Amino acid sequence: MLNKTGWFYEEINGLRLGFLVEGILYQGHSSYQEIYVLKFKKLGRALILDQCIQLTERDEFIYHELIVHPALFTHPCPQKVLVIGGGDGGSVREVLKHEMVEVVDLVEIDAEVIKVAEKYFPSVSNRLKDKRVNIHISDGRWYIKKNRFKYDIVIIDSTDPVGPAKVLYEKGFQQDLVEVLNEDGIMVIQSESPYLHEQFIKGLCDFLKGIYPIVRIYVYATPSYPGGMWSFILGSFKYDPLMVDEALIETRWKGMHTKYYNPKVHKGVFLSVPQFMLKEEESE
Ligand code: SAM
Repeated sequence: MLNKTGWFYEEINGLRLGFLVEGILYQGHSSYQEIYVLKFKKLGRALILDQCIQLTERDEFIYHELIVHPALFTHPCPQKVLVIGGGDGGSVREVLKHEMVEVVDLVEIDAEVIKVAEKYFPSVSNRLKDKRVNIHISDGRWYIKKNRFKYDIVIIDSTDPVGPAKVLYEKGFQQDLVEVLNEDGIMVIQSESPYLHEQFIKGLCDFLKGIYPIVRIYVYATPSYPGGMWSFILGSFKYDPLMVDEALIETRWKGMHTKYYNPKVHKGVFLSVPQFMLKEEESE
């Protein structure tokens, strides 16, 4: 909520996070959501959908590197990647840093988000025109039902589990997703705040454990999301991110320009899960 004193506040579960606004660069409504581009004093331009911050220029690299690289470095040869949501282009930018990737299908429900990202966030959206990228304006739910292509990696880079994104966190969709993943495929999903959505995350982990033999949660600190800590859940049929040979990651990572991710961070994010997020048996 943008107030008259020039502050933008994101409010969630009784918690309020505020940013001093230097300018309103864009405001509009698509058929799915309200879209704002604001210029924040400290964090640069911010993309805001339905009053929720999606990204800021200053820290988006952390989110995008962590939703992409742990999964792609865990898979020995990620060639076909599906990104559901992610219309800002940040996840696609990181996926394309992996030379072995042959095709990326980006399935975004709202074409307006892509247009706004290309105009106001060129450093985030600058790889959307790459020849390896196919953009599909569609609800992820329907795309996976009608598509029979198989992927090595599926990345769910969606808004919070309300409105159009709600279905992406539901059992039915996650079970359908198995049909578009290869037998040794990996799925990763942004899974909200450990402080504000603890029960939601535990519930999501529980039912993903009914689908994937390997389920790992990982967290990171972010200044622009409420609660300051965010999480991802990785589900895998075969490859465990903690069992990947660090030397192999080192070889593949060499020469790749990243600002947050590196081979030590790869292990660190999975090994440093806070106790309160771990079930008894996991903590042993
Ligand atoms: N980093 C952000 C976050 O965690 O909040 C996500 C950024 S990205 C902009 C989220 C995108 O998911 C939005 O552009 C939204 O339109 C898209 N989206 C939401 N529900 C969707 C669905 N069912 N199918 C495809 N895209 C969807």
